[in-house]
Amino acid sequence: MTVRTTCPYCGVGCGLVVTPDGKGGAAIAGDPEHPANRGRICSKGAALGETLGLEDRLLYPEIDGQRVSWETALDTVASGFREIIARHGPDAVAFYVSGQLLTEDYYVANKLIKGFLGTANIDTNSRLCMASSVAGHKRAFGSDTVPGCYEDFEQADLVVLVGSNLAWCHPVLFQRLEAAKRARPDLKIVVIDPRRTETCGIADLHLALKPGSDVTLFNGLLASLQRRSVVATDFVERHTSGLEAALAAAQASDLADCDLPAADVATFFDWFARTERAVTLYSQGVNQSSAGVDKVNALINCHLLTGRIGRPGMGPFSITGQPNAMGGREVGALSNTLAAHMDFAPADVDRVRRFWNAPRIATKPGLKAVELFDAVGRGEIKAVWIMATNPVASLPNADAVRAALQNCEYAIVSEAIRASDTVDACRIRLPALAWAEKDGTVTNSERGISRQRPFLPAPGAARQDWWILSEVARRLGHGDAFAWTDVAGIFREHEALSAFENNGTRDFEIAIDGSSYDAMAPSTWGQERFFADGGFFHADRRARFVATVPRAPAHAPSLSRPLRLNTGRVRDQWHTMTRTGKSVRLAGHRPEPTVELHPRDAKRRGIADGAIVAVESAWGRGVLRAHLSDAVRPGEAFAPMHWTAQVSRAGAINAAVNPVVDPVSGQPELKHTPVEIRALDLKWHGTILARRALMLPQIAYWTRVKGAGCYAYLVAGEQPLAQARKALAASVRTSNPGPWLESEGLESEGLEGEAGLGAVIADGRLEAVMVTGTSRDDAVRDRLAPFMAIDRLGVAERTALLRGGDAEDRGGEMCACFGISCHDIESAIAEGAASLDAIGEMTRAGTNCGSCRPEIRLLLRARRVRKAA
Ligand code: SF4
Repeated sequence: MTVRTTCPYCGVGCGLVVTPDGKGGAAIAGDPEHPANRGRICSKGAALGETLGLEDRLLYPEIDGQRVSWETALDTVASGFREIIARHGPDAVAFYVSGQLLTEDYYVANKLIKGFLGTANIDTNSRLCMASSVAGHKRAFGSDTVPGCYEDFEQADLVVLVGSNLAWCHPVLFQRLEAAKRARPDLKIVVIDPRRTETCGIADLHLALKPGSDVTLFNGLLASLQRRSVVATDFVERHTSGLEAALAAAQASDLADCDLPAADVATFFDWFARTERAVTLYSQGVNQSSAGVDKVNALINCHLLTGRIGRPGMGPFSITGQPNAMGGREVGALSNTLAAHMDFAPADVDRVRRFWNAPRIATKPGLKAVELFDAVGRGEIKAVWIMATNPVASLPNADAVRAALQNCEYAIVSEAIRASDTVDACRIRLPALAWAEKDGTVTNSERGISRQRPFLPAPGAARQDWWILSEVARRLGHGDAFAWTDVAGIFREHEALSAFENNGTRDFEIAIDGSSYDAMAPSTWGQERFFADGGFFHADRRARFVATVPRAPAHAPSLSRPLRLNTGRVRDQWHTMTRTGKSVRLAGHRPEPTVELHPRDAKRRGIADGAIVAVESAWGRGVLRAHLSDAVRPGEAFAPMHWTAQVSRAGAINAAVNPVVDPVSGQPELKHTPVEIRALDLKWHGTILARRALMLPQIAYWTRVKGAGCYAYLVAGEQPLAQARKALAASVRTSNPGPWLESEGLESEGLEGEAGLGAVIADGRLEAVMVTGTSRDDAVRDRLAPFMAIDRLGVAERTALLRGGDAEDRGGEMCACFGISCHDIESAIAEGAASLDAIGEMTRAGTNCGSCRPEIRLLLRARRVRKAA
């Protein structure tokens, strides 16, 4: 039996066909009938079957580390909220929710806190992702409306990608764009990003602008369009206002601030001016900025001026990070919105109050994510309920968030996963269902609503979030308003609210065929495209040009912290790795927390490629492995945000990220923190493979990587090698008991000198193995991993193990689907494979999900450049 559902990762919202194996696992394939992906899938989606295991799951309610019944847990939460509201008022409580919640869960959370607890202190982690787009849309259109759809990228003649590494962050949309470019090579693609990302592989032009200078660039474009008379005069006159002020701000901007070659800027402006079908797709590189909203409006201004909006192949398009960020926006789970795309205007408040029959409706916006946790830290918020998100790892200045939660009277978390930094910091832990068990809907970036259907039974005592919330509501005396028996009832109420006294005054109105919620096919709410003929949602039905005056990032680099730290994602991990971290095949591509650094900056600091470095800011520090690359501009550094305290010593980079926010949207400036980076003085390096997880001693660096049947630990330290070896061996043997064998002076290449190996072999099976030495050897994991797959080591195998192993160094993983390494690809290229197709034929790499194709293309290009030289 197969089940049609939706991928739980990014905002593309791919449909999946899942075939459970009856043993708790499932085969996953792209749904050929889903309009978002038409059968396509990426490496993360394809590996979902490896993430379904129950290890690391939170299965029973806990209070202060003790398992309790649901009755006790729910009574404790309800009485905590009741007492605190009675003592301190409703603004002393808060919810922090997530784009991982389904719309139905989101709806219930929002209704409870805003309609019945009397505060709007509910914010979602989407605040970190696209709050600037929401605010930019509302300023320009009078509503949070995404005007276009995915097909526009394929129908455009020019696609401008701003602050978006589409190849890694929204891979299926990238595949669609790549296919469109193959079919129509005249389709021009421009990437605007300080980094030369994998997305640049299909770009005709890459503008590596100075971080934070996007407003200047789009102001320059606006002024240039006006100078060249590329103006949709009729559209502007009939449907917009504010052009004069926007043009004045644009004309005052100095393009030299972008630090770009003038010829490249001229080419971009020229292409944009000459191409009617132009889409500007933007993402976190625009949004995660203290000027994020202005960036959004600066680019929307260009589409309003040219009237390129709401027609096939044109328009501004915000691509969201999370699977249901849009669902959160729809129900109103951002603290500055109320519900169903209504805000806190008195008429809206009154309408929603009547619809909900709410006794105590919030009448003003609540706190946004960063200020909400600041208020927890100051003790003003005394009860916070976190659902399906990990703020201790994902918010900026993250260590302060941990401290705030640890000191909070009622820190409550609803979570599917036990092993998370936030779960560790919360006293009350409520077990929630995970993706495979949850029932409801999600909305993707093109306003497409899809069903997420369960295909595994609920494990342990875990329950879906809407049930948990409704039970607390019932205990607080609001049972009648929270009396649903299934998700269909919640969806129908949400749908009814969207239509309630709407009469075309609000963009958000869903009208899905009422016959069967269960069988609901994916569909898009609203018009196919908005605004081709005006009809904006400001009271005068006109769009607004916004005068955007360029502002530099809030904190400028200084003498002591001269580098600009940018943060983001890698191809095969998702958020804080609680799900993707369970997959062996996803672990191979980028196994460690890294910081990318330009070789010139590294040389100045004596940092070699692969060195362990401390990244230090005024707020905190991370310890990461340096990766030297000219894909980042000199003076800049890039670190992925996925690693947490669960899988690394200090890989959680958000500890170092500044908490400055955009003054309008409240979105944090995650893309720009002044830092200094210095190499640590390490005396030794090592690799440990162990069947059972370790409690490591205090060492400067460690990271844990999921391996086949084991965990791999990459370790390094500042203490003398002999001392470290002793402490590590004790740690290995504590959790992996058995006879301990040692071998010194290893013979394998790279392990000479003081390298030594220790292993636990019990009943002929390798339980754990550890190699430590004074020099670093990246290939140890590849050499030792084959021994963990052997049930019983023979004499020859044991001898080979004690020599340090002799399997080939793979040089890192490239293709997650088929386990093809970098070295495999390089060998294929050396043997004459000169195209993606040829490499696919020779190795199979890139022939399934296609997520590795951008990197293979870069290897091919590098080879061509070397040959030409
Ligand atoms: Fe999931 Fe990948 Fe599709 Fe995103 S692109 S929804 S991660 S399969």
